[in-house]
Amino acid sequence: MSADAVVDEPSFVVQRCRTCGNVQHYERPRCLRCRSRDLAAEPASGRGTIHSFTLVQRSPLAHLDPPFVLALVRLEEGPIVMSHIIGTDESELRCEQTVTAVWRTFDGGQRLAVFQRDDTQERHAADTR
Ligand SMILES: [Zn+2]
Repeated sequence: MSADAVVDEPSFVVQRCRTCGNVQHYERPRCLRCRSRDLAAEPASGRGTIHSFTLVQRSPLAHLDPPFVLALVRLEEGPIVMSHIIGTDESELRCEQTVTAVWRTFDGGQRLAVFQRDDTQERHAADTR
């Protein structure tokens, strides 16, 4: 994966339904549960657990250098998001491990949230200095 240094930027946003309380990610025009249009964006914790993951060894996109870990992460707020897990060898990953979002700028300037295990953040931060 080619990306610049990891920067903490806790601005992960979810969408909450004011009618039924459902939380969803990404933004949609209606609630997935009750179809209400009364939705509000709110900051999310950026924390979650690994729901599932796989090691990608052949990237479908030229700007993503394999291998990398592609994962489904269940946010504390409930929705599941697809992202990368960084800073950990895939052999050390397990479902239900806790992870936290960090932000990366990829080639072309796109800024995306990726996740790292909570117990590896200090080590990874030291590696990127
Ligand atoms: Zn709803």
